Amino acid sequence: MIVNGKSTFDATRKAVETGASTVERVTGEFLEGIEKRKRLNAFLSVFHEKALAQARVIDKKIAEGRAGMLAGMVVAIKDNLCIKDEVVTCGSKMLQNFVSLYDATAVRRLRDDDAVIIGKTNLDEFAMGSSTENSAYGPVLNPVNETKVPGGSSGGSCVAVAAAMSHTALGTDTGGSIRQPASFCGIVGLKPTYGRVSRYGLVALASSFDQIGPFANSVADAARVLQVIAGHDEMDSTSVDVPVPDYLSFLNKDVKGLKIGLPREAFGEGLHDVVRSAIEKAVDKLRECGAEIVEIGLPHSEYTISTYYILMTAEASSNLARYDGARYGYRSPGVKDLTEMYVKSRSEGFGEEVKRRIMLGTYVLSAGYYDAYYRKAQRVRRLIQNDFLNAFKTVDCILMPTAPTTAFNVGEKANDPLAMYLSDVYTVSANLAGIPAISVPFGTDNKGLPIGVQLLGKQFDEGTILRVGDFLEE
Ligand code: GLN
Repeated sequence: MIVNGKSTFDATRKAVETGASTVERVTGEFLEGIEKRKRLNAFLSVFHEKALAQARVIDKKIAEGRAGMLAGMVVAIKDNLCIKDEVVTCGSKMLQNFVSLYDATAVRRLRDDDAVIIGKTNLDEFAMGSSTENSAYGPVLNPVNETKVPGGSSGGSCVAVAAAMSHTALGTDTGGSIRQPASFCGIVGLKPTYGRVSRYGLVALASSFDQIGPFANSVADAARVLQVIAGHDEMDSTSVDVPVPDYLSFLNKDVKGLKIGLPREAFGEGLHDVVRSAIEKAVDKLRECGAEIVEIGLPHSEYTISTYYILMTAEASSNLARYDGARYGYRSPGVKDLTEMYVKSRSEGFGEEVKRRIMLGTYVLSAGYYDAYYRKAQRVRRLIQNDFLNAFKTVDCILMPTAPTTAFNVGEKANDPLAMYLSDVYTVSANLAGIPAISVPFGTDNKGLPIGVQLLGKQFDEGTILRVGDFLEE
């Protein structure tokens, strides 16, 4: 059920429960939507028959009163998450024909709760990027304005939700790849606490940063997806065994008495005025309704981008060492010896940005520079984590922009990696600190481009940021 071009699960659920529609029909509507909006390039594979077959089974379960919590929800999956017997390209030529042998835990849990899996979405190659222009399968366009990027790296998942091609989607967030596109396309994007959601079946980018999370058209739908995918998994030893609360119980609450921190460092140079004034409006709304706004300091903020790009490239370079032409994916044809196989397979299989990061990461890990870069960045990461620990002694959550600007033009930053990296200035800190963060749409600029506000919470306290996000949601 698509209302005003948006597709929240509530409307569908009601229609399905009252018999006004069926899961099969809803799935068919989304499949049509995907067909109609092909030029946005959001999907890399669409599961036409499989999705409809799954929908029919769920309709039967609903009729028999034994359907799961997500019965009737249609979900798209970022193509760096494994689905058994389906190709997982990671947006790379390297894995063009690589078929997964098993399901990612998050995907399996969605399916077990009767969500329909509709297809796999486009992304920056190996999730490296902030605009979804780095995919080997072509860029994704922003549905609000097609001359703009949708943000990245989970651009396809974000656009699937923003342009009514699914109710919700899974993305992954290593340095903002769920929140920044959500902000550029005007939807909700949530990065859970590191360890909240199992990473089993997620193709690793930077293992100490990566988290799986939802895109949705409402905070409530994001909460529903989180409810199902959260929790310990014995297949991922970094998934933490702490209780998963009832996330929906945090919604439709006021904000009276909540202490919300505004980091003074987040409002300096580089922040566009439209975004600044959106944050000010959000602050006014919160204050008027009884929240206490507290100015806080995150003194190491100026180091977040450099720290992130040293550590993430280091981790990425070692994670991507496995693509050597021997075991996985692409192998250059007609090579003479082993060395040539490595060199040619990697040179031909990887795109520019991936190569740039492998070289950077290899450099910062090399014997001569390890101390100066990698070790030092690890230490700064700790200082950044401590900044948040200190802040959370006095506040319940933190409010700041998701991105310094609204969506930029296609091609605008494609040849300027540093400018591209700077668009992550407000998102990477949550990944460095391992804390949860959500982007919620809050107004538009004068061209109608969406603005996102970001809420950051204490570790494992997704509840509070869902509560405040739900309150701010318009
Ligand atoms: N823009 C960030 C980067 O390119 C985000 C990556 C991500 O979260 N997957 O590293």
